[in-house]
Amino acid sequence: MAGPEELDEAEILVDLSAIRHNCAMLAEVVAPAQLMAVVKADAYGHGLEPVAHAVRAAGVPWLGVARVAEGLELRRLGDTGRILAWLDLPGHVPYEEAVRQDIDMTAYSRRELRLIAAAGRSVGRAARVQLKVDTGLSRGGCPMADWPRLVAEAREWEEEGQLRVTGIWSHFACSDDPEHPSNDAQERVFREALAIAEAAGLRPEVRHLANSAAAVLRPSSRFDLVRAGLLVYGLDPAPGHLPDLDLRPAMTVQTPLAMAKPIAAGTGVSYGHTWVAEHPTTVGLVPAGYAEGIPRHASSRAEVWVAGRRRPVRGTICMDQFVVDLDGDLPEPGTRVLVFGPGDHGEPTAQDWAEASGTISYEIVTRIGGRMVRRYVEEDQR
Ligand SMILES: *Cc1c(COP(=O)(O)O)cnc(C)c1O
Repeated sequence: MAGPEELDEAEILVDLSAIRHNCAMLAEVVAPAQLMAVVKADAYGHGLEPVAHAVRAAGVPWLGVARVAEGLELRRLGDTGRILAWLDLPGHVPYEEAVRQDIDMTAYSRRELRLIAAAGRSVGRAARVQLKVDTGLSRGGCPMADWPRLVAEAREWEEEGQLRVTGIWSHFACSDDPEHPSNDAQERVFREALAIAEAAGLRPEVRHLANSAAAVLRPSSRFDLVRAGLLVYGLDPAPGHLPDLDLRPAMTVQTPLAMAKPIAAGTGVSYGHTWVAEHPTTVGLVPAGYAEGIPRHASSRAEVWVAGRRRPVRGTICMDQFVVDLDGDLPEPGTRVLVFGPGDHGEPTAQDWAEASGTISYEIVTRIGGRMVRRYVEEDQR
């Protein structure tokens, strides 16, 4: 494997060439639909500024964020492209600033629409607003029962020049399970919602429904734009269902080994002695724990890569550290421990950690951080 076999601090490596590559591949797969790269939550733990820069360098026209504040942060960082934000507490948003900074805001209700229209009026320019309809996820979005009133009111504001409806969108509940009947049902409801909006006179620039999994698995759901998050980072949103798209996981987490030592048969390891050595062995101390986002649920389940082999985690993962079984080897302190990476050389992946801890790779990468430092690299520097 490329890169040094010795380290002096725990780090999160983010391969920006992988992110550019993934965007280019995805853009090709979804064309003629456009690509939105979702960079909410500090770009799924990969770091907002460098990721946004890489994504734009790959030619991606839209960035997606949850909060308006995340969109405004992108503007502060100099981003000038299209940005959509989709979730804030109504009334607790710097609406006027968002209008001035050309952030597309999402309205789920007439109440939000009025707040956005008022900001458009006071700034003196049409606020860019996208309407979200709930087609069956039952999370955010306007219920279908209220949709005709929402679109009618939006059209009135539009005619008065206080806002412009730039998009209409919705979100799937089960796109990671392509056979699930709710996918067809949601797409059908979305088409109905679009027809109602069109009949009311709305002509949105972009209609969008698909997240990563649907963008690949359900071409009929691509419409004008797809909102891809996880695939941008090279991870698989629907394990077992996706074709090989040649995407590259961008994140590698590695730490130096803090120590290695022999232990006797019968020795209990880590808090609670939940693992006891059956045979004499050697163990290694990895200086990262749940404070760094290493999931405690992966105690005695996950593996790491040390000195050319996978090594099982033994016992409870602690706040700052955990222990791995080195099976008789005694590598020097400072030896590189690959917690997870792309998997090219046999090291575990974020998906492996997700399975070991009963979650999804989204949560693994998004929670990684704590005291680890992030370092940005290009492919050949990993
Ligand atoms: C997070 C999010 C996405 C991205 O989902 P992925 O599965 O990571 O592609 C898309 N749309 C909305 C509304 C989201 O909240």
